Amino acid sequence: MPHQITLIPGDGIGPEVMQAAVRVLEATGLKFAWETYAAGAEAYEKYQEYIPSALIDSIGRTRVGLKGPISTPIGHGFPSINVALRKRFELYANFRPISNLSHIPTRYPQVDLIIIRENTEGLYSGIEHEVVPGVVESLKIMTEKACTRISRFAFEYARKNQRKKIHAIHKANIMKLSDGLFLRCAREVAKGYPEITYGEHIVDNTCMQLVMNPYQYDMLLMENLYGDIISDLCAAFVGGLGMVPSANLGDHCAIFEAVHGTAPDLAGKDLANPTAVIRCAELMLHHLGEHGAALKIQNALEMVYRTRDKLTRDVGGKAGTSEFADSIIAAMEPEAVAAAQNRRP
Ligand code: ATP
Repeated sequence: MPHQITLIPGDGIGPEVMQAAVRVLEATGLKFAWETYAAGAEAYEKYQEYIPSALIDSIGRTRVGLKGPISTPIGHGFPSINVALRKRFELYANFRPISNLSHIPTRYPQVDLIIIRENTEGLYSGIEHEVVPGVVESLKIMTEKACTRISRFAFEYARKNQRKKIHAIHKANIMKLSDGLFLRCAREVAKGYPEITYGEHIVDNTCMQLVMNPYQYDMLLMENLYGDIISDLCAAFVGGLGMVPSANLGDHCAIFEAVHGTAPDLAGKDLANPTAVIRCAELMLHHLGEHGAALKIQNALEMVYRTRDKLTRDVGGKAGTSEFADSIIAAMEPEAVAAAQNRRP
């Protein structure tokens, strides 16, 4: 039986990097039945719906999505499709592993951090209004239910994956009620996991601490906005936004998408690095229980980065998006992967 997956190519560099990821996934030898849908401005032009109901039905059915970035107008226009999908399917946990691939020159080698971002509320609730001309309010919604649920997700992940330490990141000195609630819930959940060291850092200090010494952290647990900002900061440790995948996870569905956005400066030029979405594909395969195929992709990525012949420009190479994907596919030949493993230091 093929794996049924809802595919959302997205905008900007989305279609190019997603095509690369689909080709790599198919080269694993697994069978996929793709249900492909547009969302955002493109969907509105075609169907007068930003999120077509057929797309919602498809995710409800397949329960697994692989999604490209979708642009959100700045300061006006329709609300974020990315945020709407996370809310619609209660994908409350955004899981962002930050780790180096070998042989990419980065500021810090061997970073291994996990960011767990609450995905459904905070300032991303999108509840804003103009009180009087010149005065607006944006509401930061925090609930005990969501703060406890994301804390439990983080601690459960830590326990199952032998992680040692979780820091809750906050600004409870200023937002005493909202971030205060987040901390209270995290502390309460932490009591049930005595083997995991629990700490708390204020978000601005965390930015400095990360740049000074990212190795002091193991897992970072935070609300929506801090998670968005700190993920981009951490992407810089491991080669930039072209490298970092994420999974939006709920109790019933999962949508995998890169941390990066639509990168309009690179769109349509075959320049974008598809590594982040290929790593999303890897996360998706683990979610589907296809651990062997995921390892195949991981090994191929390691090999292509080690040999450095076909890297994209953001990491110092000259290859285009599709050429990079070709080399990953070539590296998935069993002999090539075996040879790469023999060359490991
Ligand atoms: P959005 O509003 O959709 O989030 P953005 O331009 O604010 O878009 P990103 O698209 O995440 O933010 O990217 C910021 C910059 O990082 C881009 O301009 C691009 O130069 C670089 N970048 C992002 N993704 C990639 C990628 N896959 N490969 C190479 N460079 C990338």
